[in-house]
Amino acid sequence: MNCKVQDKANRPADWFKVIRLDEHTFALSEPQYWQANVNYLLLGTERALLFDTGPGLYRIRDVVESLTSLPVLVIPSHLHFDHSGRVNEFAYVALMDSPALRAQTRDGVFTATDAQFMLASGTNFRVTRWLADGASIDLGGREVMVINTPGHTPDSVSLIDAAGKRLFIGDLVNRDITLANVPGADVKSMAASVKRLLALTPAGSEAREAHSELPLTWTELQQFADGLTLIVSGDSAATDSCLGGRPMLRYDIGAFPVLLPTAAGDRLRPLGSPTEELEWLTTDCLEKESQTNKGAKE
Ligand SMILES: [Zn+2]
Repeated sequence: MNCKVQDKANRPADWFKVIRLDEHTFALSEPQYWQANVNYLLLGTERALLFDTGPGLYRIRDVVESLTSLPVLVIPSHLHFDHSGRVNEFAYVALMDSPALRAQTRDGVFTATDAQFMLASGTNFRVTRWLADGASIDLGGREVMVINTPGHTPDSVSLIDAAGKRLFIGDLVNRDITLANVPGADVKSMAASVKRLLALTPAGSEAREAHSELPLTWTELQQFADGLTLIVSGDSAATDSCLGGRPMLRYDIGAFPVLLPTAAGDRLRPLGSPTEELEWLTTDCLEKESQTNKGAKE
């Protein structure tokens, strides 16, 4: 199925849901997409910042241009396809400055591996700016800070909008399911990143994540930090679970599930297409596995 060349003409009228968070901040939600991505548009007086471009099934640039005529800097929270779709359609794209990402860039064009993009096709796009950890971005009358927050992926970033008492965290932690089981994910880094954000951000701030319109409260973020610490120290019990037919370890931090690789190292693999839907938190792979084990013993 070709999902890359659809446009306004066949875009469902309500594909993008624009939610005004305050006078100069919007959530651009895609509730009909199976992963329900939420992207964020931050406006200053001179520049706009788009944090994630969604899966790119439809052109988010049209929506952004209907809301602002300012030049737009795109910062993907991380490189997964559902956060960097159609990023090529924007003139200004920034990535976190790291030797690894620089090494994947030739003549200004960054090439992502399948595992980084989480799609079997890989991707490439032009990078116009490299952001140091802790860099401040001046949008005109408004500054936001970019923080490297590894955990979900090594090169994930979050934004701190201190004046607006808001964090934008991508997939660092998610309300419905947090994935510490994708390639490059690391729960120890995830715990450290959440703690670092809590230390750098005004108390009481809310955290906007990339797969739910509902923000995580300051208290929920603190619970996440504590729960992740328990997982890292081995003081938390896991249950066997499956994602996309592969075995995973499931931990629960209050109402929030977190998935880790199994001891055997099973991780989620890149998908075949943006519309390939994964079944979350089933036990189907375990039944198959126990049958296989039984078969092997017999
Ligand atoms: Zn992701």
